[in-house]
Amino acid sequence: MGEFELIQQIFEPIAKSTQRPDLVFAIGDDCAIQRIPAGHELVFSVDTLVEGVHFPHDYMPEHLATRALAVAVSDLAAMGADPVCYTLALTLPSADRAWLEAFGQALARASQAFGIALAGGDTTRGPLTLTVQVHGTVPEGAALRRNGAKPGDRVVVSGTLGEAAEALNWLDAASPRESVATLLDRYHRPQPQLQLGRYLRGRASAAIDISDGLISDLRHIMRASGVGAEIDASALPLSRALQAVAGEKGPQLALEGGDDYELCFTVPPERWPEVQRDAPEQLTVIGEITEVEGLVLCNASGIAGNLVGYDHFR
Ligand code: ADP
Ligand code: MG
Repeated sequence: MGEFELIQQIFEPIAKSTQRPDLVFAIGDDCAIQRIPAGHELVFSVDTLVEGVHFPHDYMPEHLATRALAVAVSDLAAMGADPVCYTLALTLPSADRAWLEAFGQALARASQAFGIALAGGDTTRGPLTLTVQVHGTVPEGAALRRNGAKPGDRVVVSGTLGEAAEALNWLDAASPRESVATLLDRYHRPQPQLQLGRYLRGRASAAIDISDGLISDLRHIMRASGVGAEIDASALPLSRALQAVAGEKGPQLALEGGDDYELCFTVPPERWPEVQRDAPEQLTVIGEITEVEGLVLCNASGIAGNLVGYDHFR
C-alpha cells in the first residue's frame, strides 16, 4: 500500500464518517480548518506512543488505535473540554493492509464513541510510533486547571483504580479468567471521562486525569496549587475484579499504578454534597487538601511493600 492509497482508503473514510460543522475542512489540503465558536477557547494537547515503550511489541492494531485516541482524549476530559477533532501522525515500519484495516476500523469506532473527528495527519516510514494531537473547546475561562486546589478541599477520584496496572501482568494470558479479562479490557479500552469533565466545569477547583498513577498525578495538582494532601488508603475505590486478581496488592496498585484514565479532582467541602448528588459517574472522596506541602498517607496498614521514591512522602 502506497502512502496516497493508504490515506485515501484508510483515513479519508474515517474523516468523512466523523465530519462535523465546526471542522470546516479535514483531509485533502495542506492544513485542516477548525471554527472556534464565539465565546469559546481552543484547548489542545499532543501525545506520542512508541512501540515497546508505551505499548507492547506486536500489540493488536485494534487495541492500539483505541488506546492511542482514548489516552489523548482523556486530556481533553481532564480540562473539561468538548472534543472536536484530532490529527494523527503515524510512523509505520511497513504498510500492511490487514493491519491498517483493523487499525482504521477501531479508530473509526473510537472516534465516533468519543465524538471527535479525524482532521488530518502525517504518514511516514520508521519504527511504529503514533502521535495524536487532540483539539477541543471550552467556554471562555471554564477550563479545569491543576492550580486551583485549596486547603480543606476534598480530594475525589472517579470510578475504580489500579485495574489497568494489574492488567500489565496479564497481557500474555492465553485464555484469561473473567476477572482478568475485565482488567485487560480496562487497559486496552480506556474510557476518557468526558461527561464527568464537562460536569466538573465551575464545580471542581482543580483536576487531572490519572495516567501515571494517583500519587504522581495528584502531586501535579499539589505542585501547581502550592498545597499538600492527606490520602486515606482504606478509602481507595477498588473493583471486585481487582480484589479477586490482586488481593492485598490492590491499594498499592490503586496508588501507584497508571493507565486508568479516571479523573482526580478537588472540590470545596461546602460544594461536595451537591457535586456528588448529581454526578454522572461513581465518585469517591479519598482525602483532603492540606496547607502543609507534602503527601501524607493515612491508614497504611493494608499496603504491601513500601512507597519510597516519592520525595514528599512522610
Ligand atoms: P503535506 O505533504 O502537505 O503535509 P501529506 O501528503 O502529508 O500532505 O497529506 C495529505 C493529506 O492527507 C493531508 O490532508 C493530511 O492531513 C492527510 N493525512 C496524511 N496522513 C494521514 C494520517 N495518517 N491520518 C489522517 N490524515 C492523514
Ligand atoms: Mg505531510
